[in-house]
Amino acid sequence: MIPVQGYAGQCVAVLGLGRSGRAAAAALRAGGADVVVWDDGPAGRDAAQAEGLALRDLTQPQAYADIAALIVSPGIPHLYPAPHPAIAAAWDAGVPVDNDIGLFFRSFATSDWDGFDVTPRVIAVTGSNGKSTTAALIHHILVENGRPAQLAGNIGRGVLDIAPAQEAGVVVLELSSYQTDLARALTPDVAVFTNLSPDHLDRHAGLGGYFAAKRRLFAEGGPDRAVIGVDEPEGRYLANQMIEGAADDRVIRISSGQKLSGEGWSVYARKGFLSEYRKGKQVGAIDLRAIKGLPGMHNHQNACAAYAACRTLGLGPRGIETAMRSYPGLPHRSQLVAERAGVTFVNDSKATNVDSAAKALQAFPKVRWICGGLQKDGGLDALLPHLDRVAKAYVIGREAASFARQLTGTDAEVCTTMQVAVARASADAQPGEVVLLAPAAASFDQYDNFEQRGADFVACVAAVASPG
Ligand code: ADP
Repeated sequence: MIPVQGYAGQCVAVLGLGRSGRAAAAALRAGGADVVVWDDGPAGRDAAQAEGLALRDLTQPQAYADIAALIVSPGIPHLYPAPHPAIAAAWDAGVPVDNDIGLFFRSFATSDWDGFDVTPRVIAVTGSNGKSTTAALIHHILVENGRPAQLAGNIGRGVLDIAPAQEAGVVVLELSSYQTDLARALTPDVAVFTNLSPDHLDRHAGLGGYFAAKRRLFAEGGPDRAVIGVDEPEGRYLANQMIEGAADDRVIRISSGQKLSGEGWSVYARKGFLSEYRKGKQVGAIDLRAIKGLPGMHNHQNACAAYAACRTLGLGPRGIETAMRSYPGLPHRSQLVAERAGVTFVNDSKATNVDSAAKALQAFPKVRWICGGLQKDGGLDALLPHLDRVAKAYVIGREAASFARQLTGTDAEVCTTMQVAVARASADAQPGEVVLLAPAAASFDQYDNFEQRGADFVACVAAVASPG
């Protein structure tokens, strides 16, 4: 655990009692703060009370008289579509609102660090897609190269749950836009921005607000190095804002598909090859086609980002390449589930938005595509140009018929349930084809979360496989 610094003897309020809220409460107490907590749901309140935490209804204006800060969980809207009443009450009372990420950055470094020869580092990864894969890959590469590393944030452990830093230790954080938007301290040594496409627009009042939330990771405090995906205008803008001139190697630009030129530092993937250039010279190359755990151009973008982040810590290209070869992949992201009679089954349940589904589809030559679910704002039009590899779509979800109607020009069958979709797709699939779950939608109409949806796909695939 990372005891929170700066609140000893003061009272701090925690709103939201899921994993991060309860960890924040424990870390605040370990740092000597008094803690009061609240959750809208009775289950969270009961769990907190069982842990000996004091409840206080934080939606009441009078709750804040003795409070030094309000710590909020990422699932709770702090501004759009409307601020939670407790947050609005804290504003009115003049109480600073923060989150566990802000507490982490103000608490991670301690006086013990004076004794270290190699200072601990924090790498923070944000972006619309590829955060988890990039963060997990960085972590894997570091561990394989003998660096003590911890993975935390949205993936791995809660950020205040990790072990205190050790000599040369690296913390790899995956940060969502909700987290970067609210944190009052954001001071990673290396900040990574993978890409930007529309997502979570309701929580940020549109794409501009969403980008602004992610951008804070690069603006507040300024990282020593920034690894920035420049395949969209927002990334190019961000990279340009951070550089002093063309040769400034504080920024490493990355791309999947474009050859990057110039005097600065860049890493790009084209036709399956990763190239690193610095000061106009090529200094590293990797054949990504041989790396099974990272299929498709989208994963090559993640490979470039992870490669670049690890290079900033002094790792060599060969050590990085060797480690990439043993990267096992994450469940529900390009996860190979089964291979049967020449047909491959891939679980990409995490493809919850249009861009990630488009990328997943492009990773394979011919696809039997299982899609559908709770549609996100913005519609499916952006997906239509990427359906050339789809032999047929098998649509699931409560609104399957309306989803199918939007896939103009593609043969689409309304299946509604996963079981039917998997059965139909595997019956139709020819050798060499891929049955791919990449829903382009959230799972909440039929499942608790994308993990449950992916697990259902895996179970249905196994059921079709078993004889009888
Ligand atoms: P995040 O943590 O940002 O959601 P993940 O690594 O969990 O990212 O991947 C989420 C989904 O996005 C997966 O379904 C995957 O197929 C897709 N994806 C992964 N990397 C990228 C990328 N660089 N660009 C676009 N889509 C990606």
